[in-house]
Amino acid sequence: MSRRALITGVTGQDGAYLAKLLLEKGYDVYGAMRRTASYGLGRMAELGIEKEVKPISMELLEESNIRKVIEKVKPDEVYNLAAQSFVAVSFDQPVFTADVDGLGVTRLLEAIRSVSTGIKFYQASTSEMFGKVHETPQKETTVFHPRSPYGVAKLYGHWITVNYREGYNMHACSGILFNHESPLRGQEFVTRKITATLARMKHGHAQELCLGNMDALRDWGFAGDYVEGMHLMLQAPTPDDYVLATGVTHSVREFVTLAAEAAGWNVEWYGEGAETKAIDKATGRVLVRSVPEFYRPAEVDLLLGDPTKAKEKLGWTPKVDFPGLVSMMMESDLRKAAQSEAFL
Ligand code: NAP
Ligand code: GDP
Repeated sequence: MSRRALITGVTGQDGAYLAKLLLEKGYDVYGAMRRTASYGLGRMAELGIEKEVKPISMELLEESNIRKVIEKVKPDEVYNLAAQSFVAVSFDQPVFTADVDGLGVTRLLEAIRSVSTGIKFYQASTSEMFGKVHETPQKETTVFHPRSPYGVAKLYGHWITVNYREGYNMHACSGILFNHESPLRGQEFVTRKITATLARMKHGHAQELCLGNMDALRDWGFAGDYVEGMHLMLQAPTPDDYVLATGVTHSVREFVTLAAEAAGWNVEWYGEGAETKAIDKATGRVLVRSVPEFYRPAEVDLLLGDPTKAKEKLGWTPKVDFPGLVSMMMESDLRKAAQSEAFL
């Protein structure tokens, strides 16, 4: 009989890639989604799997609903990817973010515990928990110091996962994942905002790209690689926590430079901080500028992960490097912009 996986947040970026991976591995995949899901089946449709995933309605704020879903599906593995995942929104909606990203994890763990402690559990934790970093690179033992309501809520989710593992002997793992992107990334995140806006500009449907802090450094990987690590964590003989990262960091500015190059612009940078702008060398046109509205009340300046433990214990390594990721995303958005009026 096929193993059963339940993925919460299946309508999101990682949900789509993970569902595809598990289907390829022969799992019965149940996709938990909200009735009001923002992208619906769109991302799964882009990967051609929307008809293979079994949809099931689930809201992480609703305890009785979660329990019924676990009782009905009787999954072997649960991947909790559902979250209010955007740092900037968490400053405007801190209580809601805590409820979904923090308490939501407890609701799910409690439901699992009441049905069977044999169900394996993956929690989508984040490098945002390192925040104002205490050491570089960051690894599993690095002290946490979150810098946003999102990071704080996710830290609760991380520790409650550890607590259920230790308290109830559950195979519960927390994956501390550094930023991972793809052509399916939400357009509110900086990488996809850059590639989607540059693609619109290429087609004359946007004038310029306005960003916030372009000096921030991130360890960016490809989402398709990271979902393999999630699966490996649940196959390991003992449950544990793992950092997934590339071990290389780049600034937002570097991302813009490479993306613009892939779109056919050679950019020159002027100014610092909030005065930063990039012009097209050939024409002098301002392509990118920094504006105050995209700055955050507290910033995470530098993230750089050390994935040694995942490499040694799980045999996990990321395959797509930074230039490969940028060109994959830029090419995809140029293609979408050329094909679809809706995208523009
Ligand atoms: P995403 O694209 O924003 O997807 C988030 C998913 O959560 C969506 O399917 C969303 O559904 C669902 N969701 C939100 N609130 C919910 C609620 N109250 N009840 C049920 N479902 C809810 O995020 P992602 O990039 O795939 O990331 C997946 C997970 O990994 C998230 O937990 C994120 O915080 C974490 N993470 C991501 C990264 C990264 O770089 N991508 C790094 C570290 C950790 P709707 O469609 O209904 O909104
Ligand atoms: P995060 O690492 O989860 O916050 O991922 P984001 O993609 O949202 O942001 C990555 C970095 O880019 C952060 O340091 C942001 O402050 C910075 N950034 C600069 N301009 C923007 C912008 O316009 N939108 C977003 N989302 N981030 C920006």
